[in-house]
Amino acid sequence: MSNPYSNGRLIRRLLAMTWEYRWSCVKVLFYQIVLLALGMGGLGLTGLGIDFLRHELQPATRPPDWPAGLAPPAAWSALGVVTAIAAAMLLMALARAGLNLAYGLEVADLLEMRVMVKLRAEVYDKLQRLSFRFFDDHASGSIINRVTGDSRSVGNFVNNVLFQSLIMALSLAVYLAYMLSIHVRLTLACLATTPLLWLITASFSRKVRPAYERNRDLSDRLILTLVETVQGIAAVKGFAREKERFDAFQQANRTVREQQQSIFWRVSFFVPSTGFLTQVNLCILLAYGGHLVIRGELPLGAGLIVFAGLLQQFSAQVSNVAQIANTIQQSLTGAQRVFEVLDAPVEIRNSPDARPLPRARGAVTFDRVTFGYKPGEPVLEEISFAVRPGECIGILGPTGSGKTTLLSLIPRFYDASRGTVTVDGCDVRQLHLDDLRRNVGLVFQESFLFSNTIAANIAFGHTAATAAEIESAARIAAAHDFITGMPLGYETLLREGGKDLSGGQRQRLAIARAVLLDPSILLLDDPTAAVDPRTEAEILEAVEHAMKNRTTFIVANRINTLRRADRVLVLEKGRIVQSGRHEELIRVPGAYRSAALLQFGEGTGAS
Ligand code: ADP
Repeated sequence: MSNPYSNGRLIRRLLAMTWEYRWSCVKVLFYQIVLLALGMGGLGLTGLGIDFLRHELQPATRPPDWPAGLAPPAAWSALGVVTAIAAAMLLMALARAGLNLAYGLEVADLLEMRVMVKLRAEVYDKLQRLSFRFFDDHASGSIINRVTGDSRSVGNFVNNVLFQSLIMALSLAVYLAYMLSIHVRLTLACLATTPLLWLITASFSRKVRPAYERNRDLSDRLILTLVETVQGIAAVKGFAREKERFDAFQQANRTVREQQQSIFWRVSFFVPSTGFLTQVNLCILLAYGGHLVIRGELPLGAGLIVFAGLLQQFSAQVSNVAQIANTIQQSLTGAQRVFEVLDAPVEIRNSPDARPLPRARGAVTFDRVTFGYKPGEPVLEEISFAVRPGECIGILGPTGSGKTTLLSLIPRFYDASRGTVTVDGCDVRQLHLDDLRRNVGLVFQESFLFSNTIAANIAFGHTAATAAEIESAARIAAAHDFITGMPLGYETLLREGGKDLSGGQRQRLAIARAVLLDPSILLLDDPTAAVDPRTEAEILEAVEHAMKNRTTFIVANRINTLRRADRVLVLEKGRIVQSGRHEELIRVPGAYRSAALLQFGEGTGAS
């Protein structure tokens, strides 16, 4: 398949995006055309003024060529004519200033307020809909960069590439026509170096594009290092790894700098070489144009001087090519990264004939389910079991045996590679996704709390919940007492990640959050993994309340937790190796009994 992100396709797509704002673009271009006309008018008037003065002083020289209808009345004094020309130029300059202001405002409004805001919102919205797999494959630094920096590159494309190229093409055409109308051979001579300029530009953009791509990758890595340090600050400090982290950051920082420098070197050679060529043009003009003026073939003001002005404008626009070529590469690299997010397939989506699931009873089955994060590397193999509504299933297994993965297949965070997962007898892939997830409550090992009030955090999955519903959920999760013990109660603002709460308190809020939805299926992924034994008891009490009348899966490594389950599944390397009640499993040799003996050798036999 051909590259969907070739320059041509990227540009076409960006143009299609801009089409939505075509009236703004037309307005912007209209301002530019009027600006150009006023500029040319001003230049023409300067030429006329000079020729008029020269003729007044030396009547033997050519009289000025007044364009049709512009010749001043014969009664005017020389001073009057010069003053009139100067006044006209002043008016034009004022009009230009006003138009330039309007142009700047319109561009800023179009890009900053509309194109970029919309794009950022689209990327954000898409990110939320993307499956977990996307986040497995992309580091968070890269994702953050795509929403912020790369969206800006797209804005840069519209302004610095699209508008500037159109303005450039338009101005070059006008300048060229004007110069040709003054003197054809002089024009050709002065522009002889232009093809060389194009060559340099083309070679520059070919070389610099890969460098910009690499630059984005390196800067992603830099942000990732920063994000990891901020998120893992406790680990960094606890293990006294500040120096190593700093070195790693410095290393990433240095790499970005060195790479940036190599780009900078290229740009540094490119810009002056184009500047030099424009100076060469001016030298040709002076030599050849001066010769023509002396021979009387070219007027001084309307000819040589206007020509010099035009040539300078022309060269300035041509050296803009450098800037545009530079920006186009940068903005296409950014645009590609934005489009990659917008195009990423949403693997987990509603099937066209998705069935609604108002309230599940809570029967769950796994039928010969095999799943792997990467093709050919199954993490779960041939998992089969059936759970009745209201049953509590404990899951035990060493780290990496696939416990979390097994849970994540129920709310369809991932889809099984083979086999089926059903809820109430219906394949989860056939159920309406939002309905399915509303029926599944989740509590992770460590729960994510947002920087918002306690009430808002509990109501995260059900924003329309009333205060009474929130309180009742908090009571079930044994969180009500500690919440009301705080000065602001439910209105207490949590800091980022709920850092001002203890681990046990955070987990109880998470349980309240899960319970508020009144789900028929509750998934608890080792909710006591990160807490001390006393807090564990508090959490388990909350869990006990929360489980009532729900199908519950609880991943746990503590036998104390598992003995309350109706049935325990023991996982090893992605397979179920044992299954049964605590009382049964404890009697037979195997993984369960070993774990129990390890935890409390004494009382196990007695249970
Ligand atoms: P457990 O919960 O039993 O510790 P997991 O279900 O988390 O086990 O992981 C099972 C295996 O799958 C491990 O080898 C782990 O490295 C791998 N794994 C887990 N999550 C991902 C992921 N998002 N991408 C790739 N591999 C993963």
